[in-house]
Amino acid sequence: MSKPASTRSSSAFLSVDLDRMGKQVGFLMIPHSPDDDAWGVTRVPVAVIANGTGPTVILEGGNHGDEYEGPIAICELIRELDPGEIQGRLILMPANNVHAVMAGKRVSPVDGVNFNRAFPGDPHGTVTQQTTAFIVDQLYPEADAFLDLHSGGSSLDILPSAIIQPSEDSTLRQQNILAAQAFDAPLTVVIDNLGDPRTATAAACRAGLITMGTELGGGGTVSVSALEIARRGIRNVLVHLGVLSTETAVEPRRDQRILSLPGTDAYVFATVDGIFEPLHRHGHEVRAGEPAGRIHCTWDPSRPPEEVHYQSDGMLYGRRQPGRVKPGNCCLVVAKPYG
Ligand SMILES: [Zn+2]
Repeated sequence: MSKPASTRSSSAFLSVDLDRMGKQVGFLMIPHSPDDDAWGVTRVPVAVIANGTGPTVILEGGNHGDEYEGPIAICELIRELDPGEIQGRLILMPANNVHAVMAGKRVSPVDGVNFNRAFPGDPHGTVTQQTTAFIVDQLYPEADAFLDLHSGGSSLDILPSAIIQPSEDSTLRQQNILAAQAFDAPLTVVIDNLGDPRTATAAACRAGLITMGTELGGGGTVSVSALEIARRGIRNVLVHLGVLSTETAVEPRRDQRILSLPGTDAYVFATVDGIFEPLHRHGHEVRAGEPAGRIHCTWDPSRPPEEVHYQSDGMLYGRRQPGRVKPGNCCLVVAKPYG
């Protein structure tokens, strides 16, 4: 589809041609002039696979650098997919926050910016802000749909799920729900990041793209089962969008559940400095007001542990991974049935 490009000027450029058929693997080049490299670039990997006619779909991984299943699955698609297998165009970006990906960190070690709080970006800002600005200005207008593949990262372990991005537009909202359901993860969860407009998925929705995300495990590791869900889910969504033929579709699971995060009540935050002891496993059904965990101060044995409580009924959906907590750290996340 053809939409007007942004009027914001940018010095970033692509080494691939978005309009060429076939498969190209290259980079989004962000001019970057640090102490040891006067006229260098930050290279953000981009592959374009195009054939015939059909929708353009952007796949993003590595928005946070310590979330691994999505990037692995996108890299596999880049290597394995033959252009003749698709109708339309895939823009595959497995490591968008590339400095964070190479460091295995959530946020960029170069500018300290959280990629997923840096939309719509600034074409004259930091490396992260320039990258998100290029995506918003030059790539979203080329696309019909956007898949943003996250996991819980180093600090959270989350039940593998497809994420529905809410939209004010009722038609787009319904399309987003159908795309997330097509991914066919064991859970499908509505998450709006407390209404934060600075995420990749919120910006994609504003651009009118069919948008879905994932949360695939976490804990700073690669989950075998979540990786399988990612591989299968991406292909399912590409079938749903008409990029892959229905012959490659797999039988849907029958046990899919749709949940949502109940606003700020979803979260149990640490209240004191200490070691967090959770009281329940993932998937446990919980009640508002029920004890959720204890925070121990093991360097002061005279002090009893501080108890924290659930703020909502629902199912324990995510847990903090490191034991050590400071006040304000997210310890637990509860999700409840949607609708
Ligand atoms: Zn993430």
